[in-house]
Amino acid sequence: MERFNLDGEKIKPLTICLIGGGGFIGSHLCEKLLYKTQHTAIIIDISSTKIKHLLRPYSCWFGRVQFHEINVKRDTLHRHLEPLIAASDLVINLAAICTPANYNTRPLDTIKSNSVDAIPVVEFCIKYKKRLIHFSSCEVYGKTIGSFLPKDHALQNVSELYLLKEYDSPCIFGSIDKQRWTYACAKQMIERLIYAQSALHSLEFTIVRPFNWIGPRMDFIRGIDGPREAVPRVLACFTGNLLRGKPLKLVDGGQSQRSFCYIKEAIEAVLLIIENPARANGKIFNVGNPENDVTIKQLAELMIEVYADVTKQPASKFTTIDVSSNNFYGPGYDDSDKRIPDMTIINRELGWKPAMRLRTILKLCLDHAINEYKSAIKNECDSLLEF
Ligand code: NAD
Ligand code: UDP
Repeated sequence: MERFNLDGEKIKPLTICLIGGGGFIGSHLCEKLLYKTQHTAIIIDISSTKIKHLLRPYSCWFGRVQFHEINVKRDTLHRHLEPLIAASDLVINLAAICTPANYNTRPLDTIKSNSVDAIPVVEFCIKYKKRLIHFSSCEVYGKTIGSFLPKDHALQNVSELYLLKEYDSPCIFGSIDKQRWTYACAKQMIERLIYAQSALHSLEFTIVRPFNWIGPRMDFIRGIDGPREAVPRVLACFTGNLLRGKPLKLVDGGQSQRSFCYIKEAIEAVLLIIENPARANGKIFNVGNPENDVTIKQLAELMIEVYADVTKQPASKFTTIDVSSNNFYGPGYDDSDKRIPDMTIINRELGWKPAMRLRTILKLCLDHAINEYKSAIKNECDSLLEF
């Protein structure tokens, strides 16, 4: 089926190199590219677990997908990476260490993964004149200006002090001993490098800043499809605790705010960016849903409500517990107080506006998790009973 962009032009099938394409966002993006378009996906990752359903032989998209198991960090001479970039029309870089538990405990790995490892990708895009879509993060904004005011200050309600705008908001990080900011700082550095290179070498680029995209396949459930001692992002933490009937842990009381966006809606935005280069090149886009802005405590309460409803249990069975960030993440943790994206630019350039409300999103996520993990959780409970 022929596809047309927002300016009515026919879209030519592209060969797209997706670095880190085997992760949460990559797996949903590859599904979209293979199921709904004629584009070809060259996927580079260290793992294919989340995309194995896309790599089955004899599927109707089979000729349009390749998986290359490459660790871009270890491919020091770029023998594998360079020819794959050279063979593509477009490069999308998603590869990163991007779970907060790593930022203060593995600061060097975090810095290298999010900046140093991405530099060759930018350089090869310049060398071979390839368009680059780079995944940055809403974390580059850091803390809001409003966070430095007393909690009950009248200026707290002035949107200029908390609404995050691509070209107006400052990037405010904590002090150097707060290693939480290694990720944000590395992401900022690579954004600045891309921006500087585009002026010097006419690199065609778009920077995407995701705001807490959530959905099935996000991270892992500890002790089932990921290490028991590792800490995934909040959706997976809370889901794992609900499945096991354990209290949901609220870091420092769960007062930080996040705006959550459903992955499949966010992927629509990415496809618009891919297929409308004339509108997207040279731009930075916030991609999120400001309507789903909640505190983490409110997120926990809503997840409990939805989970109780789906599993037909009383909500009173599930609880939350306050934990200090020092105990949960270790020293050097710090937090973004509030993350509400301004959506003017993506709405104006690409007409994208997400509609899905948080309750609906959480129902989809929890339905999926129950299906996916129920037998593993049952086995866990059975073996505990035997013990
Ligand atoms: P993810 O961890 O699921 O995906 C990252 C993928 O990169 C993983 O599959 C991982 O194996 C791969 N990778 C990491 N290092 C690699 C290496 N050295 N070589 C090859 N592959 C490597 O995370 P995600 O949520 O899909 O995030 C994708 C991108 O979006 C990241 O750059 C992240 O910083 C950014 N982002 C995501 C969100 C979100 O809401 N999910 C928010 C802000 C930023
Ligand atoms: N968080 C929490 N309990 C958990 C996991 C995370 O209270 O079990 C908090 C965390 O401190 C942060 C928010 O949830 O304030 C979102 O964390 P996430 O790991 O999803 O990543 P972030 O949005 O900070 O990038």
